[in-house]
Amino acid sequence: DRMTTETSRRVLLAAPRGYCAGVDRAVITVEKALEQYGAPVYVRKQIVHNKYVVQTLEKKGAIFVDETAEVPENAIVIFSAHGVAPVVHEEADRRKLASIDATCPLVTKVHKEAVRFAKDDYDILLIGHEGHEEVIGTMGEAPERTHLVDGPKDVADLVVRDESKVVWLSQTTLSVDETMETVDALKERFPQLLSPPSDDICYATQNRQVAVKQISAESDLVIVVGSRNSSNAIRLVEVALQSGAGASYLVDFADECEDAWLEGVATVGVTSGASVPEILVDQVLEWLAVRGYADVQVVTSAEESIQFSLPKELRRDLRAEA
Ligand code: SF4
Repeated sequence: DRMTTETSRRVLLAAPRGYCAGVDRAVITVEKALEQYGAPVYVRKQIVHNKYVVQTLEKKGAIFVDETAEVPENAIVIFSAHGVAPVVHEEADRRKLASIDATCPLVTKVHKEAVRFAKDDYDILLIGHEGHEEVIGTMGEAPERTHLVDGPKDVADLVVRDESKVVWLSQTTLSVDETMETVDALKERFPQLLSPPSDDICYATQNRQVAVKQISAESDLVIVVGSRNSSNAIRLVEVALQSGAGASYLVDFADECEDAWLEGVATVGVTSGASVPEILVDQVLEWLAVRGYADVQVVTSAEESIQFSLPKELRRDLRAEA
């Protein structure tokens, strides 16, 4: 009856969710650069893949561009958390730009692996999504040695120079389970395939997927807060659906949630991607509370304490000032 439905309405809030260490560092980098050097500060590509973050930084004086060619000579340009190919650094130097590299250290780690394996004469099979900025940056380290593998469907067509010298690497924000399926397909095709020394899918991506899995089996609906171009956020919707959620939707803002989604729903799961500020999650929780889902239970599957220091170019200038 109506009373029991009312009382059994609840929200399961996944933890960890939201900001990872790489996003936190990249956003603070732009904020500190604006304070230190004054507006405008140019940022190549979206600093992180989140609409709200980009809009907020634009209001503070950041100018987002697609290419360094759009940045006036001698200006400051920040490279986004997703990383850039070496040619982008060269172009920035040529144009005498003062660049600050906000590439996440966990992306830089993959770049270094690519450089090392290319030097050791390996062909690199990079598992990732075609066209994603991170993939473009990583491939740029060894363009003639790197092959993009966007899922098992790409495995059959791969042509390498020497089948005994192949290694796989991956984008940091993939689905853990799907990546292992692709790796299995690669191993079947190339029995001597070498694996990277450690996982390229980062701790934050893995933790958020584990956390959403935990709430999904019990959730009739899972709302993921995140932007459409955020790879890790899209994966959370997919993982939710694969893990038993009745339905799952991605929203940038609370006002994109629809009342129709709540029909017959007792338990709503909520989580957010690695580039999502907590205020956006709070607004979704308010939207749900107004509709009778005020009982919020946090489901914690891991604690995170990792932090990265700011880019060295910025630390140097902040220190000089102090
Ligand atoms: Fe770094 Fe992972 Fe965050 Fe990407 S999702 S910025 S790789 S910590």
